[in-house]
Amino acid sequence: MDCLFCKIVKKDIPAKIVFENDKVLAFEDLTPQAPVHILVIPKKHIATSLDISREDNSLIGELYQAANAIAKEKGVAEKGFRLVMNCNREAGQTVFHIHLHLLAGRAMNWPPG
Ligand code: AMP
Ligand code: ZN
Repeated sequence: MDCLFCKIVKKDIPAKIVFENDKVLAFEDLTPQAPVHILVIPKKHIATSLDISREDNSLIGELYQAANAIAKEKGVAEKGFRLVMNCNREAGQTVFHIHLHLLAGRAMNWPPG
């Protein structure tokens, strides 16, 4: 399957990895939109939020556990951080392997653009 993030999981494409366990990988976004911008992904290929099945429920919890650990490790947990998962094109999804954006290190606007 021709998926950019699956290639990063397989280490076929380099990335600045900040967290890894058997189910989850996190790495720095190539085009950071904030001082901290990390992508947290399941190693399993899931194309969009809509493709998350019930058997993935605990895996999605693992994504949030990893994001929380990274936010603490980066020292942004108390001040604040944003977790975003875009679904499909109008929401801005460009890579069709689900990922949580972990954004922090600056004040965030609401609503997002
Ligand atoms: P989205 O637009 O929500 O699908 O997010 C995709 C994100 O992947 C964007 O923020 C891109 O900057 C980022 N991205 C694309 N290619 C790479 C790459 N090779 N390594 C790290 N991040 C990437
Ligand atoms: Zn994939």
